[in-house]
Amino acid sequence: MTQEYTRAYWENLLAGLKPEGRHFIDGAHRPSASGATFTRTRPMDGKPGAELARGGGADVDAAVAAARAVFESGIWRKKEPREKKKNMLKWADLIRQHGEELAMLETLDVGKPIMASLNVDVRLAADGIQYYGEMIDKLYDEIAPTGPNARALVRKVPLGVVGAITPWNYPLIIDAWKLGPAIAAGNSVVLKPAEQSSLSAIKLAELAIEAGLPAGVFNVVTGYGEEAGKPLALHMDVDMIAFTGSTEVGKLIMGYAAQSNVKRVALELGGKSPLVVFEDADLDAAASAAAWGCFYNSGETCHASTRLIVQRSVQEALIEKIQAVTRREITLGHPLDPSAQIGALIEEDHMKKVLSMIAAGEKEGGRRVFGAERVMDETGGYYVSPGVFVDVTNDMKLARQEVFGPVLAAIPFETEEEALRIANDTVYGLAGAVFTRDMDRAHRFSEAIHAGTVWINTYDMSSFATPFGGFKQSGFGRDRSAHAIDKYCDYKTIWQQFGSA
Ligand code: NAP
Repeated sequence: MTQEYTRAYWENLLAGLKPEGRHFIDGAHRPSASGATFTRTRPMDGKPGAELARGGGADVDAAVAAARAVFESGIWRKKEPREKKKNMLKWADLIRQHGEELAMLETLDVGKPIMASLNVDVRLAADGIQYYGEMIDKLYDEIAPTGPNARALVRKVPLGVVGAITPWNYPLIIDAWKLGPAIAAGNSVVLKPAEQSSLSAIKLAELAIEAGLPAGVFNVVTGYGEEAGKPLALHMDVDMIAFTGSTEVGKLIMGYAAQSNVKRVALELGGKSPLVVFEDADLDAAASAAAWGCFYNSGETCHASTRLIVQRSVQEALIEKIQAVTRREITLGHPLDPSAQIGALIEEDHMKKVLSMIAAGEKEGGRRVFGAERVMDETGGYYVSPGVFVDVTNDMKLARQEVFGPVLAAIPFETEEEALRIANDTVYGLAGAVFTRDMDRAHRFSEAIHAGTVWINTYDMSSFATPFGGFKQSGFGRDRSAHAIDKYCDYKTIWQQFGSA
């Protein structure tokens, strides 16, 4: 029988939940070596949430030592590929079986609607682990072309210990994007989740052990970036940092790698993605894409379509349609209400930053058409309604900086050249989209937008089969697809001579 989800059902589940907040190192929960803890505040109502271990250098050392030991032992990396595959597929199944609990942990931590946590975040995390699990026994090495008496094997080998540092906006999904390919390739991982969103990571680690992954293959150290992330990124025995977060911290990570052991880094960073609408476009489709592209997850999305670059002749009609879609479909509500499509922002400070960006937009000459204001403050939580600004120019803060809230900035244009110039006039290059019925223009324009992903007449289509990541200051290295496996491997050439030359 399918479960009928009501607010009471979720409230009941929450009442019985006792989240685990200790690190997960070498297959077991552990408090911090210092004994320090911190308390997470719940974005849905501002009340105290889980208590978590506040990790530091000693905890990172312990986790890296466990990860190194299991890597050197070879019990995971040298395991029969189809057996490793079974473990990964079981892990994916366990994630699905514990879906409601994982969804609740995610919603508790980050304030996103419970049904989105369940139907999107948990589902995609399980699918990600499954995708890379299925790949394990389909990976081949190469034999290079050589002369007749020699053989050169080009082996793809795991790096060793991977440090993963992740953000709070899609914790389960982004963790799975790192864990799936890194572990499938044979590495061990030490994950430092964002301090706001550690609960689902700890649960993932418990489930990995239940699925038969050896202790030490996947460790979690919770805590603050400066205290736990920095020692991980500076660690002399970590071979790579796979980072997702802001461009500002991404630059620090590159510096830590250079200051320590020249470990490799992969960076998935910020964005300010353009969605360009020409006057010949299907305006209903464009309005739906623009609204959902910008407001989904309350705008806390790296590739959110925050800059709507619209041909002036259709701007007014398009904004009216965006407003209608937002009112009709994008219900803001309490995260435990199954009808809510968007919920709370991550924390009070972040809400204040979003509100200050909105105020700056008005001060700089932008005009607020609807929304973009604090709502539901009686709950004690951090809610901002989705809203649109017009009369924005591309030099305003709203167009240049990540707001990471549900605010869409509309920038008008007259010609295709002008639209392209505005679209590419950003330090970021994560994603972009073009809406037009002219297919020549669609292809010309999609080639010319400087971004890792470009959509034509749609937004946010994605699949594990396609790489995801940025150009320019949106970073380098790709999550998802088979290319992500390469990121966690190195090439090793083995020459053999036989017979006489
Ligand atoms: P953030 O502030 O850069 O933090 C990301 C991670 O880095 C967190 O775990 C954080 O820990 C840690 N950190 C902070 N300072 C550190 C330091 N000095 N050394 C090592 N680690 C450190 O980003 P966020 O606010 O969590 O996430 C939002 C950002 O992520 C946005 O810019 C968004 O565009 C980007 N993002 C990009 C993608 C993508 O795929 N390109 C996807 C999602 C998000 P603490 O939080 O505990 O300090």
